[in-house]
Amino acid sequence: MKTPNRTNSLAFRLTLLYALMFFLSSAIVFILCYFLASSYLLNQIDRRLSAYWRNLNHGLETNTLDSLDEELTDLATARGTERVFFYVLDHNGRLVASSDLSSWAELSLNEAFIAKATKGLQAVATVYVPDRHLRLRVLAAPIFRQQILLAGISLAEYDAFLNRMIEVFISMVLVTILLGMIVGWHMARRAMSGVEEVAAVATDIAQGHFDQRVSVTGQGEEIAQLASAFNAMLEKISHFITGMKEINDNIAHDLRTPITRIRGMAETTLIADESLDEYQALAGSIIEECDRLLSMINTILDISEAEAGLTEIKRKDLDLAALVRQGVSLFQPLGEDKGVIIQLQTPETCPFRGDVNLLQRLMANLLDNAVKFTPAGGHILVKLHTGVDLLELQVADNGPGIPETDLAHIFERFYRGDRSRSTPGFGLGLALARSIARSHQGDILVTSQPGQGSIFKVQLPLVSPSHK
Ligand code: ADP
Repeated sequence: MKTPNRTNSLAFRLTLLYALMFFLSSAIVFILCYFLASSYLLNQIDRRLSAYWRNLNHGLETNTLDSLDEELTDLATARGTERVFFYVLDHNGRLVASSDLSSWAELSLNEAFIAKATKGLQAVATVYVPDRHLRLRVLAAPIFRQQILLAGISLAEYDAFLNRMIEVFISMVLVTILLGMIVGWHMARRAMSGVEEVAAVATDIAQGHFDQRVSVTGQGEEIAQLASAFNAMLEKISHFITGMKEINDNIAHDLRTPITRIRGMAETTLIADESLDEYQALAGSIIEECDRLLSMINTILDISEAEAGLTEIKRKDLDLAALVRQGVSLFQPLGEDKGVIIQLQTPETCPFRGDVNLLQRLMANLLDNAVKFTPAGGHILVKLHTGVDLLELQVADNGPGIPETDLAHIFERFYRGDRSRSTPGFGLGLALARSIARSHQGDILVTSQPGQGSIFKVQLPLVSPSHK
């Protein structure tokens, strides 16, 4: 496996994404707060300037301009002469009165700004004072009779407050982003640990350890689902592998005998220098053996395909009762030859949707076994009945029955009971029958009493004719 590149990992990217989203959302909140706070404070300052103007204007209407100097100085001194100033100009721009302006020597105000007040309008502006490195909020407003009041308030405290706000925000964001990244990394690592476990198990499996499984608990719903899907897939794969191994073993074992036999026959005929008749007899035997082998190989392939879900089932509407009657009539002569009676109990009709060929093969295998294993004088009962959503086909015989130890194995490929060694067969019939039943979403059950007979029950769900 590739050594994981941390910066390329999903956990790392998720952490970065958390951090970025965190930063963006706090930046948006901060910008909003900053904007609200600064406009609120500036508005307060402007209202204060307006209040100065209102008070002075009101005072001047009752007093004269003579005491104005003193009044402005008192007003500025009370608030700090380096924080506020006031001066009054006449309509020609000449200074009429002012507070202590020693802290504001470098102040230069835009003429257009002052001109606004000459026209009877109020104007507010923010002005930068370079020698004191501070900003000012200035109000120019008409006062008394054609005089202009210029009132200024330093924005040093206002700016200091906003700068402090930025500093606090930056340090808070740094700390919380760091915390967010730690928590995000931890969470992403936790979430990804399940995926990593799946990847580790997959790597292990690639090296041949098919028994490995991923633990399903404690990972969160989605990872648990991934783990169970992965485990289910592994289960299926190991099932296939075991099946393939079994087939390999079976083929190795069951093909070797007939091939050795064919070889032996050919060899003895060759060595003995037989006549043409002998050669012809040999060719006949070889054809027979080959047919048996081919039929066995085809059955193995059919079972494997059906078990792997690869068999194409050509479902069509059919009458199973008719199909059963037909099957029994085919085996009737065989039974008669052997002295076995086959009885039949079926309803008039039994509509079913299934694959005719496969169902015929299923029935043939059960009937073949019943006839094969039931001794002369015995009888076989074939019954078909339908329930609400299930139909059942029973093949019961009063033959030798199946020993308890064999019952669990008779549906396995190549399994043959000890007592059937003398009867022809490969041990594939029931395996094929079961795979056909299962490919129709049904199953086969068996009950047997040794010495009294066996009952095979094929249960098939009734699918509606419209169902494919
Ligand atoms: P085969 O018939 O070729 O041996 P099957 O798969 O059809 O293979 O059957 C497997 C085994 O199940 C048989 O070898 C036999 O031991 C047992 N069996 C099947 N059907 C019957 C039956 N009707 N009565 C007794 N034994 C049976």
